[in-house]
Amino acid sequence: MIVTISISTSPGDSMNDISSGVSAAVADSGVEEGLCLISSPHTTAGITINENADPDVKTDMLMELGKLVPLNDGYRHMEGNSAAHLKATLTGLSVTLPISEGCLVLGTWQGIYFCDYDGPRQRRVLVTIIGR
Ligand code: ZN
Repeated sequence: MIVTISISTSPGDSMNDISSGVSAAVADSGVEEGLCLISSPHTTAGITINENADPDVKTDMLMELGKLVPLNDGYRHMEGNSAAHLKATLTGLSVTLPISEGCLVLGTWQGIYFCDYDGPRQRRVLVTIIGR
């Protein structure tokens, strides 16, 4: 089954914690043992897993990504958002997590983040759940 999570993002770059929404989708699925694929159907956003305890981790990650990929660097793409496309590819567009005993298996300090590099936008996250 595939569940769609809708999300409204803030201007510019943002990391949005979607852990609770994904966990709810897994719980609603009734799957006890299986896999959960969390994917983005967008070209300027990514999905990653990282620390959800200290919000400064998100700030540092976005700051350093901004240094790796300058906003303007002689890009040819006419839409003017090449930096966002590059950051999406660096982040990756999906993550897969195990489901055990009906729950998503995440580490104590881990959260699932939808990373938007071209906000504000209305976005979708696809949660594909397989198992028994
Ligand atoms: Zn573009």
